[in-house]
Amino acid sequence: MRVGPVRRDEATAAFFDGTARSERLLFRCPAGHFSPPYAQQCDTCASVDLVSVAAAGGASVVSRSVAHQRGGDRDTLVVAELDEGPWWWSKVIGAEPEQVAAGARLTVAFERADEESEAVPVFRLA
Ligand SMILES: [Zn+2]
Repeated sequence: MRVGPVRRDEATAAFFDGTARSERLLFRCPAGHFSPPYAQQCDTCASVDLVSVAAAGGASVVSRSVAHQRGGDRDTLVVAELDEGPWWWSKVIGAEPEQVAAGARLTVAFERADEESEAVPVFRLA
């Protein structure tokens, strides 16, 4: 399964500016808590004083699923906990589903569906 064409809008422009630089952005509040890039306020302390920072790129598998495609291809989909704390779901590229178990270490990668599509964060086994 390829990542479908993804286009930016006003709400996602800053995030995709980050992925174009190979950065997966998160929000950090003054207390140092991390929140997902779509958060309106800190998930932990509710601060609305959020700054955008690049995640380090490491994560651990929380849960794995397999999507079976026509023609027999399989995709490995995971919910992963980023090293900064927020959870993120995406696919794992370059690995068979059996190689991706709960707790496995991941690193961020980026895929584009085509030349005009935004870069989308995915994972590889670390
Ligand atoms: Zn906070």
